[in-house]
Amino acid sequence: MKAVLFETFQEAPKLVTVPDPTPQPHGVVLKVEATGVCRSDWHGWMGHDSDIELPHVPGHELAGRIVAVGKDVTNWKAGDKVTVPFICGCGSCSECHAGHQQVCLHQEQPGFTHWGSFAEYVAIHQADLNLVALPESMEFATAASLGCRFATSFRAVIDQGRVSAGQWVAVHGCGGVGLSAVMIAAAAGANVIGVDLDPAKLNLARELGAVAVINGQEGDVPAAIREITRGGAHVSLDALGHSVTMTNSILCLRPRGKHIQVGLMLGEHAAPAVPMPKIVGQEIELLGSHGMQAHRYGAMLDMVASGKLDPARLVGDRISLADAPKALMNMDKFQSVGATVITRF
Ligand SMILES: [Zn+2]
Ligand SMILES: [Zn+2]
Repeated sequence: MKAVLFETFQEAPKLVTVPDPTPQPHGVVLKVEATGVCRSDWHGWMGHDSDIELPHVPGHELAGRIVAVGKDVTNWKAGDKVTVPFICGCGSCSECHAGHQQVCLHQEQPGFTHWGSFAEYVAIHQADLNLVALPESMEFATAASLGCRFATSFRAVIDQGRVSAGQWVAVHGCGGVGLSAVMIAAAAGANVIGVDLDPAKLNLARELGAVAVINGQEGDVPAAIREITRGGAHVSLDALGHSVTMTNSILCLRPRGKHIQVGLMLGEHAAPAVPMPKIVGQEIELLGSHGMQAHRYGAMLDMVASGKLDPARLVGDRISLADAPKALMNMDKFQSVGATVITRF
């Protein structure tokens, strides 16, 4: 099969021909029909992820059809249209048994712990636990965007934030995760404030349901949010993963508010200074949010089917597999509005 592979961190990946994957007894092989290019792939290529063994094929935001099924798989057959959360559970640890596959103790991530979907085919392990059936009406490019950014935001807003109608929700960073969170929180009935440095992203945040937007370059972001909300947001998300947006997210909350850390804090942002006096004095909750387990996709897909959520609006450029190395290497530049998806192989 054709695949995009890198042999050394930070050197240009190449389009090469490698052997087709075969399914594990509990796994399947998918023909990849669409796969998103994500900032996490860029971190992996930079060498920030200790799971990656070289040579490596990235790609974790995927949708496709099953072409081969392992002998122990009972729920799936060739031809099924599926996607997968970017964190796959092992099925046998205590967290998986409790239904929390997103924090599985032995988790696997296609594109990190094994070869991913920047390829014509990809192997997925523990298929009965981790695969999600897709409606035939959903485009593959849209489905590919669900597994990482959109599902992550759904869990952050709905399951971790427990956002309810009438609450104020601030979203710091309006990239793929942030814009998804704006749409989901607005659909839940919240009053959403989007924050970013890029006017184009703020315009899109408004179109997706934000009632107010703030350009982070113009003054004191937490003060502006406390003024708009008359006291602070009930729930605030750092969707970027940066010490400034994390701090702003905590400082914009009202007493007993919830900060949800969704953006990964890596590299120089791995150990940020946290404003602890406010957290103690105002009983602020700090919550992490990390992907979403396969069994929660039904709630999200039902909101898509009913028209309350429209993830297709977050799909940006469609590119070919041959274009993927360049797109991957440029992922740290923040320029794109909407997700870049590989749709031609
Ligand atoms: Zn991703
Ligand atoms: Zn597990």
